[in-house]
Amino acid sequence: LISRKWRVEPTLIDLGDGVVIGEGNFSIMAGPCSIENERQIELVVEHLKVNNVKIMRGGVFKPRSSPYAFRGLGIDGLKMFHQICSANGIKIITEVMQVSQIEEMIDYVDVFQVGARNSQNFNLLDSLGEAQKPVLLKRGISGTIEELLQAAEYIFSNGNEKIMLCERGIRGYEKAYRNILDLNAVPVLKEKTHLPVIVDPSHGIGLRDYVEPMSLAAVMAGADGVIYETHQKPEEAFSDGQQTVNFQESERLIKRMRKAFELR
Ligand code: PEP
Ligand code: MN
Repeated sequence: LISRKWRVEPTLIDLGDGVVIGEGNFSIMAGPCSIENERQIELVVEHLKVNNVKIMRGGVFKPRSSPYAFRGLGIDGLKMFHQICSANGIKIITEVMQVSQIEEMIDYVDVFQVGARNSQNFNLLDSLGEAQKPVLLKRGISGTIEELLQAAEYIFSNGNEKIMLCERGIRGYEKAYRNILDLNAVPVLKEKTHLPVIVDPSHGIGLRDYVEPMSLAAVMAGADGVIYETHQKPEEAFSDGQQTVNFQESERLIKRMRKAFELR
């Protein structure tokens, strides 16, 4: 069902208020790795509004490699996140980690993110298929393109067509950066499926200095949008600070991506 052979026209995902993701648009989703407090949300929202960015990312349920690391503010953090964003006309994308969270989260999110670690959590994918909320589905840490497509098929076949695919880097042997951002996947996915393709350069390379060149490369590779991490003080971020850009860098990035998209 997600194949171009089944549907030729590109799928567009309408989040309301004129925010539409998919071919013809270039969607920017930016924000911290983790939602930390009210002040941080307000600062990011302000930064996004100044730059006409309509979608804020931010995790409240965080999959962390160590159980002792910061694991997110949970549902109360999401309610605060939603209150501030809805008052400012900003849409929310945030990660859902398990089936039981869908119901408590659903009224407070615009897009559910499925993280790399849950990319093949088939029960979660089934339930998101029934939930009728847009989903950003990340490629697994060592996931093939075929596995990503099959995972999307789980959601779609349960009745939810509002899916975007996200290339976020795959694990390789190289130690100079965190992951290998597989930009090959962008034109390949665009050909194989009618779903929007989003690139996450922050997790894709894992080092803030390289987020801009890889984002610009993603634009030219044909991505329908990017999702990246920004924070008022990246070095103090609760998670993923090393790959997070500050607002000045973020602003420059936004301007350059928009210029690159015009040239595409
Ligand atoms: C995130 O977006 O902060 C995240 C945990 O991403 P991923 O699932 O790609 O590691
Ligand atoms: Mn992160």
